[in-house]
This record gives sequence, structure tokens and C-alpha cells, in this order.
Amino acid sequence: MLDILKYPDERLKQASQPVTVFDDTLHAFVADLKETMRAGPGGVGIAAPQVGRFERIVIVDISALRKLPKGSSHSGRLLLINPEITEWEGMAMGREGCMSVPDYTGNVIRAEKIRFTAYDESGTQREYECAGFEARAVQHEVDHLDGLLFLDRLVSRRSDLFRRKVYKRKDEK
Ligand SMILES: [Zn+2]
Repeated sequence: MLDILKYPDERLKQASQPVTVFDDTLHAFVADLKETMRAGPGGVGIAAPQVGRFERIVIVDISALRKLPKGSSHSGRLLLINPEITEWEGMAMGREGCMSVPDYTGNVIRAEKIRFTAYDESGTQREYECAGFEARAVQHEVDHLDGLLFLDRLVSRRSDLFRRKVYKRKDEK
């Protein structure tokens, strides 16, 4: 389990570097990153800089939460290395949360459909397209690689930022 950097840690504003070596060290790191994402509450995505490693690696896994559209180009579990979004289509407002911003959610405008390329663990470049919730998650994670949080994309902090509900345990006062 890796430690998650939390807002307002300045390191979250740092841009990440492309991965150039696809070796066992990378594979081990990806495995740790996956574990860390799964351990988070409702975590559907994580980016390497969130654990203080400034390389262009993200994981998006919506397989447990949403059904993928028919004919999807992949399984809903994405490991994306050096991802580049190449096409954006449509716009939609939706609610986002982030492991680095645990106390808030926010309404953010994103493209509804995107196309992108990314390398897999073995260093092969692939093409993807996705839509809806998954496209939103990919855009959110790719933002982390450029030092951006969903907080930076809010139109208005006053109307688009929401405190997460905190449920007290029964034995707490
Ligand atoms: Zn995030």
C-alpha cells in the first residue's frame, strides 16, 4: 500500500514524465498502484503522481461499478502508460471525487466521448475510445499527470464544490 498525497500538497501540481523503460520495476509499481486504488473507498482510478511517483501512469477500473457499453474496445480495466487524448466529443457536467481530495466532491464539465492512445505494460501502443463515466474517469486521471485536480476545473467553488457527508460511527458522539 502506497501513501496518497492529499490536497493542498504542492507536489500534486507537478507534471509527470513519460515512462521510457518497461521493466520489472514498472510492473511491480503498477501492481502496488492497483492495490492502493482498490483499498480506497469507491476508487475507480489512480494516477502515479498521487503516490509521489511523477511518471505518466494511470489506472482506471470501472468494471465493478458500471456496465460498459456494448462493443467497447476493452474490458473496463485500463492501465494507461503515457496516455494521450487525441479526440474530444460533446460535453457533460458530472460529479467527481478524488483520493487526493477526500473531503469534497465537485461538478466538472468533461468531454462525453474521447479517443486516446496509451502504452500497455509491455510497451505496446494501443488505441482506445470510451464514453460517459469511463471517459470522465480517464480525463480526471490524465489531468493528474499534468498537475491538475478536479478543483482546478470547477466553474465556481461556491456552487460546484460539495463537502462529503461524513457518517459518524455509532460508538462516536
Ligand atoms: Zn483524482
